Parts: sequence; structure tokens; C-alpha cells
Amino acid sequence: MDTYARLPVGFVRGEGVWLWDENGRRYLDAVSGIAVAGIGHAHPRLAKALAEQAATLIHTSNLYRVPKQEELAERLCALSGMDKVFFCNSGAEANEAAIKLARLWGHRKGIEIPNIIVMEKAFHGRTMATLTATGSRKVQAGFEPLLTGFARVPYNDVPAVAQVGSHNKNVVAVLVEPYQGEGGVQVPEKSYLEGLRKVCDENGWLLMLDEVQCGLGRSGKWFAFQHTSVKPDVMTLAKGLGSGVPVGACLAAGEAGEVFKPGNHGSTFGGQPFACAAALTTLAIIEDERLMARATDIGASMLGAFADRLKGIVGVTQVRGQGLLLGIELDRPCGDLVKAALERGLLINVTSDNVIRLLPPLTIKPAEAQQVIDTVCDLVTRFLCARSAA
Ligand SMILES: *Cc1c(COP(=O)(O)O)cnc(C)c1O
Repeated sequence: MDTYARLPVGFVRGEGVWLWDENGRRYLDAVSGIAVAGIGHAHPRLAKALAEQAATLIHTSNLYRVPKQEELAERLCALSGMDKVFFCNSGAEANEAAIKLARLWGHRKGIEIPNIIVMEKAFHGRTMATLTATGSRKVQAGFEPLLTGFARVPYNDVPAVAQVGSHNKNVVAVLVEPYQGEGGVQVPEKSYLEGLRKVCDENGWLLMLDEVQCGLGRSGKWFAFQHTSVKPDVMTLAKGLGSGVPVGACLAAGEAGEVFKPGNHGSTFGGQPFACAAALTTLAIIEDERLMARATDIGASMLGAFADRLKGIVGVTQVRGQGLLLGIELDRPCGDLVKAALERGLLINVTSDNVIRLLPPLTIKPAEAQQVIDTVCDLVTRFLCARSAA
């Protein structure tokens, strides 16, 4: 179906940060399939692990114990400090699990109409519950009636969250991205999550972090919340977790981990041996190749280079980001830049109409990062000059 306005190119092969199209032309991928290929394309260690797992056992069912799933759950809990995991196949499903968990938790406490506080410009997925939680009319338009049970406030505004709580006694949870991705690479105040944690604690709400895009090393830590002193009650993952093999996860700590009982939730594919092998191998590669340190270092140098080279250029509003989640905001819509970059052999993304978003593989080398910097700066400068002249 016609759900995507696709660019006129088709890729048939990848290696590291590089992709090749049907005509053998090479492209530098600074999108990573939208934060999925954190370890780069066609990683030999992942390919080997997947081939072995496919030849051993792809799928059984959650009707039985799944040893690989137990292994992955233990690994994710050790890395995050969370206690329990539900496995699914996408970010939307991970957030659906979080939303259901919060509602059930509310009902158990006697709150009949549980409400979840969500943010403006948030993106949580395309299912009915997650598009309702999403803060974009574009995503919601035409799909009414939306779900009830959500209250929306501006991002990066702790008092607004507290304010909702002061008059809405049905609030059970806050669902928020530590850094907004689709919403234009929004980086909140350093104290934002701490402020939310405090309000949640004061009111007995769950703090639920959507780390589908910013998690798994992209921010320079395993999880973005680890840049703060905060510990969430619930955290969702997907995108980079399986390096392209669909796998999502909803993690919970303490009481929140005890909410679901047998029969409350499920997934046929979720946590199957093949998907778990992909995730376990991805985590091992991120650790063994020290990709978080690389994301920190190269991300900082790219951010610095962009800030430097785009400084004072009329039309560049802000350069921001964390690790290898980078955004360059212009003062005008700049979707045309995606095609211009493609013609120059570079894949970039534009989100929120006017924010260039870069999400290269965490394996990107300094020379490759330099190529991204040079091409993007040149494209932006030309684009803004052309428009100013017109
Ligand atoms: C992409 C994304 C989702 C949705 O993930 P899907 O796998 O496309 O369902 C949810 N939350 C955030 C923050 C995302 O970036």
C-alpha cells in the first residue's frame, strides 16, 4: 500500500556504514534504517550468529520456556538495572505493552479511568494506542476516534506535568522520550528526567521512558537515562536492539515488573530464539567494539564541527544532539535536502519538516564522519543561499 513517499533508490547490499544500490552505486548511510543498524550493515559476527541460530532453532512459542529469551532478559536487566522484560517485535508494540501495564497497574490501585501524561511532539508508534500517545496531528489525522486516557503537556516542562497531577487524580504514569527523535531531535534540560522522577515519586506514578530510538548505545551510554541519576519504572526498546531483526522489549522495575500475570499480554513471535540471538549478539558487539565510547567521541566531534562550520549562517537555528543522535534545525522546511544528499551519495533524514537528523551507525570511522560533515555543511550552505537569493 502507498504508505511511504519513497525515494527512487533501492539498496541491495551493505557493509559497515556503506550501502550499494541496484546499479552498484555506493552511499554513506547516516540514517542506519532509522537508528536500527547501530553496529553497521552486514556485520560478519551477527551474520554468523544468525546463520547458526537459523540452522539450530528459529522459533518455538511462549507456551514454553525460551532459554535464549531468558539469557537476553538477564543481560538487559544487568545493563539497565531493571528487573523484568516483556519481548515483542517493534517499538510500537513495546509502548503498547507499557501503556497496558500502566493501565492495569492503575486498575489494580482502584483507578477506573487511568490517565497517562504524554508530551507534545512525542513519537511512540503507529498503533491506535501509540498514535494517540504521539504528539503529532499528522500521525493522528483521519484515525479518530482516538483512545481516551492521555493528557498532553509540552516537552521539557516539569511544572506542566506537576500541574496536570494537581487537578487530574486519574494519572498513573508519565510516558516520555529522554531525547525526542521524530519530534526534531529535542534535547531537554539536563535536570528534566530528574524533575519528572521527583513528580512521579511525589504522586505515586510510573515513570516510563521510550528509549526505542535513543537507547542501545546511540546516546553514548547503553540507555539515555544513564546520563542522569534517574531510574525509570518502565523502559521500552526496539530499533537498534536486533540490528534489523525485529525485536522490541518493555522492561520494568520493582512493582511495575509484577503487574502482568499470565493471560494479560502476549506475542506469538516476541522473544523467539532467532530474535534473541540477534539482540544478544548486537549487545556483545556494542560492548566488545566499545561502540558507546565511539558514539560519544565521534558524536561530540561531529556536533562541534557542525556548530563551528554552520555558526553565523543565516537560516541555521540550532545544532544539537547527544552521541550519534544529531539534529540541525533550519528556520524553514528542508525536506528537499534528503534528495540532494542522495544525489551526492549520502543518506540523511529530515524530521519535523525543518530538522536534519543524522543517525549514523555507531561503528562510523572518523574519515567517514568527516565526509558526512563536509557534505551536509555544503548542502545546507547551498540550500540556504539558494533560498535566500530566490
Ligand atoms: C520508531 C519509534 C517508535 C516506533 O517503533 P516501531 O518499531 O516503528 O513501531 C516508538 N518510539 C520511538 C521513540 C521511536 O523512535
